[in-house]
This record gives sequence, structure tokens and C-alpha cells, in this order.
Amino acid sequence: MKNTILISIALFAASLVACGGDKAPQEEAAAESAEAVAVAATGGNPTAEQASKEITGDYMRGIVVEISDDRYEGRGPGSAGDEMARTYLAQRMEELGLEPAAEDGSWEQPFDLVGVNAAQPDSWTFDGHGKSMTLTQWDQFIVGSGVQEPRAAFDEAELVFVGYGIQAPEYDWDDYKGVDLTGKVLVMMNNDPDWDPELFAGETRLWYGRWDYKYLSAARQGAAGAIIIHTSPSAGYPFQVVQTSWTGVQFELPAGDEPRSQISAWVTEDTARELIAMAGLDLDALREAAYNRDFKPVPLGITTSIGMDVDIKRVQSANILGLIRGSDPELKDEVVVYTAHHDHLGIGTPNDDGDVIYNGAMDNATGVAQVMAIAKAIKALPEAPRRSILVNLVGAEEQGLLGSEYYAANPTFAPGKIAANLNYDGGNIWGHTHDVTFVGLGKSTVDEIVTMIADEQGRVVKPDQFSDRGYFYRSDQFSFAKIGVPAMYLDTGTDFVDRPPEWGREQQNHYTEVNYHQPTDEYDPSWTFDGMVDDALLGFWTGLAIANSDDMPTWNPGDEFEAARIEALKALEQ
Ligand SMILES: [Zn+2]
Repeated sequence: MKNTILISIALFAASLVACGGDKAPQEEAAAESAEAVAVAATGGNPTAEQASKEITGDYMRGIVVEISDDRYEGRGPGSAGDEMARTYLAQRMEELGLEPAAEDGSWEQPFDLVGVNAAQPDSWTFDGHGKSMTLTQWDQFIVGSGVQEPRAAFDEAELVFVGYGIQAPEYDWDDYKGVDLTGKVLVMMNNDPDWDPELFAGETRLWYGRWDYKYLSAARQGAAGAIIIHTSPSAGYPFQVVQTSWTGVQFELPAGDEPRSQISAWVTEDTARELIAMAGLDLDALREAAYNRDFKPVPLGITTSIGMDVDIKRVQSANILGLIRGSDPELKDEVVVYTAHHDHLGIGTPNDDGDVIYNGAMDNATGVAQVMAIAKAIKALPEAPRRSILVNLVGAEEQGLLGSEYYAANPTFAPGKIAANLNYDGGNIWGHTHDVTFVGLGKSTVDEIVTMIADEQGRVVKPDQFSDRGYFYRSDQFSFAKIGVPAMYLDTGTDFVDRPPEWGREQQNHYTEVNYHQPTDEYDPSWTFDGMVDDALLGFWTGLAIANSDDMPTWNPGDEFEAARIEALKALEQ
């Protein structure tokens, strides 16, 4: 960060004052929030520049090397390695002088997890139209239990192709059309409609395009099970990620009274094509029909049965909470929350080299390291920011954002008092960039702050550069957004300094294809932390600006999470 931020922000504020009273309402709003940034950066805190120097590559590297070591066994929730990581991170927080911020004065906000391990059958048979087809587990299908019970099973349930399996009244879209699907097995396409910017935000993947929505949607219909047809473009990752993520113990929060199907399955695209051909139909033609609002479910005349023993065990993990108490008597009950998940996949299926430890070095030791470095810099300020800062290293993210979901259901600050959530999931290991990815850009007034600060860094802010992969809904900021908190996720840019234009995307695609959720996501001494320093600095200044502003950020009008925020703010008045 250059010192010019103080000058340019002061000038910007002055020019706003100069243009006075005849502003359009929209300009007025922009002016207020720009002023907020000005107050933030200049509000008696010129030593912040000095404090920001605490964010160093060495500090971050130390944390990454430690918790991605084999001794931590990949930090699977509830494992010895998970506990070791939690203890280590709490110690580092204590060392920084944070306050333990869980309810009982502890560093840990514990939560129960139900570990569900289905004995997936080696094969799975489908019958119909006088034919029979048997699929092979791993290569053709992956199946998980939908229930937290010792057995997941159904007999001779009929397959029905349901297109996307989406019900979205706001887009006038309902793939079920009132058809009774009780006891059926729903075969679904992944993703959401992506060809029209006015429909499901075009290529941007919404919650409707995620597997968790789809299985829930099937359960709401009373379906016996759901089978998602995998394609790499529609999932955002190759089938090997399904194979490694959906085998072994799957953790969930304890079941409530929500509807559940017996099984949740995936098949490869080729397998789906063969199955559907058995019904005398063509997958491409069915998909074509499903691209239309008028689509109706198509019974396939194929039945199947399945029965799996399910091993259930209960374990505990925890979110690690450390607080920097705000300095303003009126605003200190409000908070800016930084999150990064500390867990990864633990010990799992060996890769070709026989490695069974899923170290999760990039995912997400690097995110943890960035958030810890930000906390270190904030602690180095001579006076704490006006609002409080909560460092929340959440657990069990890889199992479906469970730690952050638990926190959102049991927050230590009322949701309406949480000013914003800044999440880190993954870090830039390749060097300085001309850009930074802002997952959540276009959704809230945080945009202006981040854009202004990135500009001071000489960088441009870009929206999610892989928006079809739905990253906004794939990490912990989503749990905060759902309870109304303006939330965002800062991620690696793609335009690297002194590299050809396509180089960055190539590196990231290579990581996704080869190392993402694999035992090879290991620390490599060749990693450079320069880019992570830049990204952590951006998060530091952004959090500081938000924590020092008069007003909290707001969602842009009409955003999908605005209603939840209004509710959260209303709840404060009661
Ligand atoms: Zn992650």
C-alpha cells in the first residue's frame, strides 16, 4: 500500500463535498460510502501503513508449512490431525494477543458432526425395456447415503429425468410441474440454465446449480434418491473430484426435520448416456428439452434397487474464534468477520504414488495463513479499529461448509451486527498479479471499497473469473450471506506480472485438474508468497475501512441476500 491512499482518498472526499447538494440519489449513496472509506483510512490512523508491514510471506509460509505437514494427516474433521491444527492455530492466535471469543471464554466453538460412511456397492443394476445394465462403482458411479441411519435402501424405484431439478419462482422456472415424484429416483443435469444473462444470472452459477441444492430439491419431492449427471463443464471439476470427495466418511451436521432421500449419487456423462439409451431415448435430446421452461419430467421406464450398510459415528470439530475488540464504545458490538477454513479431507484413497494424506496445503492452509497475517497486522495498530474484528477459522468446510453453517446458526454476534465477512479459500502461490479476483463483485457496497484499495495497489478488481464454477456458493462466505451478512471472497488474479496473458489461467486450471482435492496438494518450496501478501494487504485495508466506517456495508438493491439482511436488521429492534 502506498501512502498516496491517504491523499487520494482525502481528495476524493473533498471533491464530493464540493459537488454539494444537487446529487442524484445514487451519487449520494456512492458519496456516503466513499466518505466512509475516507474516514476509515484517514480517521486518526496514519500508522496503519506501518502495521500493514506485519503481513509478510515468511509469516504465512510458516503456517502453511506447519499445518500442511504429513503429521497433521490432512486435517480431516474430528481426527487427531484436526485437533492438532486447532490447538496450533489457537496458540498462534494467543501469541498475537487475540482474545478467545467462543462462548465460554474458549478459543473453540465446538460442534457435533455425524460421520456417514456408506459401504458403496461394487456394482449397481438397472432394468427396463427388456434390458439390464450393471454399472461399476468408482469408474461409472459414486453413491452416498442421504440418511443418517444404519441402512440406506429402496426397492425397484423408477428413474425419472427431471432436467435441472430446479424450482425457482423468481425465474418462473419449475422442472417438476406438479408431477408426483414420491419414491422415484430423479436423474438430473448439473448447473443451472446458463445461456441467457436474464435467467439464473447467465453463466454465473447460482445456488440452484450446486449439488447440495439438487439433492435437497429431490428430497423435497419425496424422492427415494437423486442421480446427478456429471460433466466437467457443468460441475466445474473433473469426475475424479467426485470420486475422492464422495468416498469414505462424509460429515454432516446432525439431522433435523428436513426432508431426506435415501441416496445421493453421481454418474459420468457416458454412463447417463447409456442408461438413457436403454430407455430408447437420447441424452442430448432430453437436455435440449430441459433447456425450456415448458419441460416436464420424463419417466424412463427403468427401475433400480439399492441397499447399503451405513456406518454412523459422531465426532466433534470446532471453529477457532479470536477477537480484537473494537475501540469505539458505540460500534464495538459490531464486527467484521474474517474466515478461512482450517480443515481438509484427511486420509483417503491412495493416489497412483500410494500417497493417502490429503495435505490441503493450498486448500486451505494458504487461506488460514492470509487471515492470520491480517490479524497480526490489525493487532499491530496502535489503536484497535472502531468495530471489533473476529478471526473465525472454521472447520469442516470441505464437507459442505459445515463449520460456517454451524456458526451462522449459532453466531457469537447477532447477524445484524456483523458488518461484513471476508473469506479466504486458497491463495496465490505464483507471484504478483495486475488483478485480483473478487468473488461476490456486483453484490454489495463492499465493491467500492475493494476497488478503491486495489487501485491504490495498482491492481484491477475482476469478478469471479470462473463464474460458471459457482465459487460464491462453494466456500464459507455463503453461510454468512445466507444470514444476510454482506460477504465476499478474495482470490488469486489471473494476470501475472511479467508473464504471458494466458499463463495464470493455465496455472490455475492445472492446479484444478491435477492437485485440487488430491494428495498432491502439498507445500512446495518453490511457492512464492508475493501474491498472497498483496491479497492479504487488500483484505487488511478493506476490513479496516469497513470496521472504521460510520455505516455498515449493504447488499445492492435486489440482491438475492438483501431480504435476509433486512430481516437480520429488523431482529435487532426486537
Ligand atoms: Zn477450500
